[in-house]
Amino acid sequence: MNWIDTHAHIYLPEFANDQAEIVDRARQANVNTIFLPNVDASTTDSLLNLCDQYPTIFFPMMGLHPCSVNEQWETELDKLHTILTQSGRRFYAVGEIGLDLYWDTSTLDIQIKAFQRQIEWAISLDLPIVIHVREAFEESFNVVEQYPEVRGVFHCFTGNTAQAEWIQSRGMYVGLGGVSTFKNSGMDNVIPHLDRKLVVLETDAPYLAPVPHRGKRNESSYIPIIGERVAALWNCSTEDVMHITSENAQNLFQHG
Ligand SMILES: [Zn+2]
Repeated sequence: MNWIDTHAHIYLPEFANDQAEIVDRARQANVNTIFLPNVDASTTDSLLNLCDQYPTIFFPMMGLHPCSVNEQWETELDKLHTILTQSGRRFYAVGEIGLDLYWDTSTLDIQIKAFQRQIEWAISLDLPIVIHVREAFEESFNVVEQYPEVRGVFHCFTGNTAQAEWIQSRGMYVGLGGVSTFKNSGMDNVIPHLDRKLVVLETDAPYLAPVPHRGKRNESSYIPIIGERVAALWNCSTEDVMHITSENAQNLFQHG
């Protein structure tokens, strides 16, 4: 079994000049499966091209990121829904979707509407959702609570133990990334208490690189660094973390 990066944006311009090296380094680090969440209609071509170039490594999701929700959100959603349902491709999740009140609080109303609409897509297509939450835990929980049948993952989880328990009690997954390696992130208090069957690993590359690469461009080959941190907090081997989290990721995305 290999590592799985459940969330990376390797199709973004940050990687335009060295995608092949990024893939090589990921393979060398035993990270052989990488799920790609979409951002908006401007990123779908590069995302799908990358999946076509490396069909055994990259697996696409489709959705509208909350930071891309603006007055044109309905037109944008129509475009993405057409790709999701009419391109003849298999998508592994609706994502990334959710609420972000860090960058813009004025769009909360339409962020909620876009989030709800996309959760409804996921339910009707029997797909998991990949949720982005920033400074909007309460608001996001209130939306997710309206859909008891929805499944998925809270990506880049940085909340507290009570919030993790709320997520996992619904059978949803917690995505751990580079923040888990940051001192003062508080994650060393949360990770030991997690239900290990509902944890997946992710980089969120190019963002949020783990220590010792913090502040630099993140990439999928750093997944084992996050795995090592989780292993230390779970008091088990890094190999165990790889097995547990990769199996979880396969269950989450019904892949493999
Ligand atoms: Zn992301």
